[in-house]
Amino acid sequence: MSVRVRYAPSPTGLQHIGGIRTALFNYFFARANGGSFILRIEDTDRERSTPEALEDLYSTLEWLGINYDEGPGKDGGFGPYVQSEREQLYKDKAAELISSGKAYPCFCSSERLDVIREEQKAAKKSIGYDRYCRGLSPDEADARIKAGEKYVIRLKVPLEGKTVFDDIILGQTGRKNKDINPDPVILKTDGFPTYHLANVIDDHAMGITHIMRAQEWIPSGPLHVLIYEAFGWKPPAYCHLPMVMGKDGQKLSKRHGSTSVSDFRKNGYLPEALVNFVSLLGWSYDDSREFFSMEDLCSLFSLEKINKSPAVFDYKKLDWFNGQYLRMKDPEELKEMLLPLLAGEGLISNPPSSGERGIFNGAFNIIRERLKLLNDVVPMLRFLFTDPGIGNAEDAIPKKMDASEAAKALVLGEKLLLEAADPPDASDEDACEAWDEVMDGRFREKAEKEKLKIGAMLQPLRLAVTASKVSPPLFPAIRLLGLDESLKRIKRLIDTLKNM
Ligand code: GLU
Repeated sequence: MSVRVRYAPSPTGLQHIGGIRTALFNYFFARANGGSFILRIEDTDRERSTPEALEDLYSTLEWLGINYDEGPGKDGGFGPYVQSEREQLYKDKAAELISSGKAYPCFCSSERLDVIREEQKAAKKSIGYDRYCRGLSPDEADARIKAGEKYVIRLKVPLEGKTVFDDIILGQTGRKNKDINPDPVILKTDGFPTYHLANVIDDHAMGITHIMRAQEWIPSGPLHVLIYEAFGWKPPAYCHLPMVMGKDGQKLSKRHGSTSVSDFRKNGYLPEALVNFVSLLGWSYDDSREFFSMEDLCSLFSLEKINKSPAVFDYKKLDWFNGQYLRMKDPEELKEMLLPLLAGEGLISNPPSSGERGIFNGAFNIIRERLKLLNDVVPMLRFLFTDPGIGNAEDAIPKKMDASEAAKALVLGEKLLLEAADPPDASDEDACEAWDEVMDGRFREKAEKEKLKIGAMLQPLRLAVTASKVSPPLFPAIRLLGLDESLKRIKRLIDTLKNM
């Protein structure tokens, strides 16, 4: 039997970590088994589905490199399966269930349903449909339909017994039928199916062999099995994936940080880092290996290695992965990813001039090791392409010093720079390294002589040159900016500190 799996999102919001974990696991599993990966848009909730969510879904899958295998598409083209385009199928199938006595039309008005809900609440009973229309004779139901009365179709949930299913990860799980939502709606008055009906019909119609989805869907499992049974179909294998938690043990949510893929993308994460990181949310290969490319995962992934216990989303670990992947990236390719970010902030032109490229190339080797996110390039290099001003002068004052002492430390630095040799061209890496080392040595010597901590000498200097507490290593920064411009900025900060 060849593996056929699907990712079946409802386009009601941005793609988030939980969703793409499901998409990726299905994708890896299909690829590792030479099977098919299907994309199915579950947009039967017309009010909540939006074109923006759909757009976000497509661009996210493309960015991550997830390709689906088949689908009808428009004009004989290729595209995903879209449930809103398959309405007739669900209607026909629901009608079939009425004919076979597994479902029934229900004519109860929403006012009547409100009244029973209030009564159940008052009597502290569990809330649910009272199965009023289940007892209608088929003739009466037919007559009312013909007379044009509005109705929904409800599934007849058996009153006795238990419905169970086997989950590859969790083992057997199930529910007593009397605890299942009494006779849920499967087709709404507008003729649209509910999620449960369309989901089951499509999984069957598309020959899905394994349903891999988030554990949130476990409670729907028994109901789905009942729908399969009502049709006389065999359910696919189930594999519910472990929950994704924040570090505090609560379900991952916006409270913990970004959860939408578009945010991670905007903030400068690489798709390969995100794919690698997400692959480890509930799956592991062995105890030691943590680096996996998309290709690796598409051959190594297996269901047996999915964990039972919840996965923890560690933002620091993701940043670490991203830094690693940035370092592994081909330098030229990485440069082409960074330059537009600087241009986007108006720091350089787009495309960059050759002068700007030259400055950037000089800085690239210095920042490369320090980047965690692509976007880090902006705060790190802003000072090189524009005069950032003074920034927060308070940040120039080292601990246990006041403004005038900070000014004095800065004057010492100014002197050393006035005596410094002209920095070499950035392309001469050896000479640059030598220059940086000489300067570092001189500053240390001076600090010792003046009984200052080296940090106390460098802190005001760093702020003067870059207007930032975090920046690339200081002497390379000065060298790249040039001595004249650096000294001008230093003088400006000395004046400010003296007047504080
Ligand atoms: N449309 C459902 C969702 O949004 C699909 C659940 C399933 O995979 O069955 O998650």
